[in-house]
Amino acid sequence: MHSKHKALVIGAGLAGVAISERLAKRGWQVDLYERNAAPAQEASGNPSGVLLPLLTRDDAPAARLSRACYLYALRRLTELPGVRWSPCGVLHIARDAEHELLQCATLNDLNLPVKLVSFLNHAAAEAQIGRPLAHGGWWFPEGGWVDPVSLCNALLALGGERIETHYSVTVARLEQTIDGWQIFDSADNLLGSAPHLILANAQAAQALLPCPVPLTLLPIRGQISYLEKLAGNDNHPPLRHVLCRSGYLTPPESGAICIGASFDSGDSDLQSRLSDHEGNLQRLEELLPGAALGIDARSLTGRVGIRSTARDRVPLVGTLPAPLSAKDMEQATLATMPRIPGLHVLLGLGARGLVWAPLVAELLASQLAGEPLPLEPALVKRIDPARFYLQALRRKNVSNSADL
Ligand SMILES: Cc1cc2nc3c(=O)[nH]c(=O)nc-3n(C[C@H](O)[C@H](O)[C@H](O)COP(=O)(O)OP(=O)(O)OC[C@H]3O[C@@H](n4cnc5c(N)ncnc54)[C@H](O)[C@@H]3O)c2cc1C
Repeated sequence: MHSKHKALVIGAGLAGVAISERLAKRGWQVDLYERNAAPAQEASGNPSGVLLPLLTRDDAPAARLSRACYLYALRRLTELPGVRWSPCGVLHIARDAEHELLQCATLNDLNLPVKLVSFLNHAAAEAQIGRPLAHGGWWFPEGGWVDPVSLCNALLALGGERIETHYSVTVARLEQTIDGWQIFDSADNLLGSAPHLILANAQAAQALLPCPVPLTLLPIRGQISYLEKLAGNDNHPPLRHVLCRSGYLTPPESGAICIGASFDSGDSDLQSRLSDHEGNLQRLEELLPGAALGIDARSLTGRVGIRSTARDRVPLVGTLPAPLSAKDMEQATLATMPRIPGLHVLLGLGARGLVWAPLVAELLASQLAGEPLPLEPALVKRIDPARFYLQALRRKNVSNSADL
């Protein structure tokens, strides 16, 4: 192994585990640091999450990116042994009749293959799900649910000895050296050093940055609720598919019937709230009329996690920009912007980490290895971690680099 092919990765959630496995696959040696005693204990610790792409009528870059990521994630999941998941199909139910029309028009404009998505009218949607619904919706026949903890464990197993895990270790400080990076704990003990350092520690990344480059990550609190069974279940066949609208519902086959999730921007409180269980019961009622009847929110248990989201809701992936001198600011572009050697991020997976993580990890590994990239250049730019720094420069929000 070339001595340059060594990386330190901070954070063992979906992001950190995915990039560790992709580098290990290329023969790199990875040291993975996690403050919890096991992987996938924070945002990536829900029993199941939904695998579903974003669709927009104008097929905006975020939608194209999510489609590429979704298709790649499906391929990876099919190949990976040991992951609990099911491509059981997802129905994205329309909010109302007007939204049904928009869903139809979107599919007419995009002309996507029915293997990816089709529109089911109200009657067809009810026939597919086997229960009364409020409206029809988009049907993603290969969408489904994934257990993120099992995905992280499967990726770590695949990485094998090339990934050395360091649990119950909190990285407190980074330092650049002549040939790479060193990381330290809060007692200033040296934890490790390598030519490459990857921050995959979600919301905690900004505080570790050695220079003031803005990442604009926002915490968004989310609470899911577990149900033992759906009200009125005895009169219907068991739920076999995932349902989505403003919330989502996973079928019993996923291990627990999960209803999710609350969405509180700027909130990092990890305490469970009765009001959020009540909100989740409302989401359930929207998804499956009658299914929440008689269920007391006080009887519910659940889990709280913090999503970490960039302002524009797409991930931050790549090498961090170096602060610019006042002289260089005016001509700066993403292509010409200087970068901090060896300091990379895989952050901002937000509410779609299961969709984004596999392909953006493959992208970052390709960038580090100097290989052809697995995404079109426009989408690579779209998730460049320098984009907010560049925007700040262009808006002239700051008068000199020291303010950034
Ligand atoms: C309620 C809820 C529902 C969701 N539903 C879905 C869904 O249906 N579909 C979907 O695709 N996505 C969903 N998501 C989003 C998905 O879970 C996240 O995008 C994903 O888990 C983020 O992974 P991550 O690795 O970036 O963050 P995390 O899993 O939070 O991992 C970051 C890790 O870094 C560690 N860390 C932080 N600082 C340090 C440090 N200094 N030293 C060492 N370790 C450190 C943390 O302990 C943590 O383990 C949901 C999220 C929530 C909260």
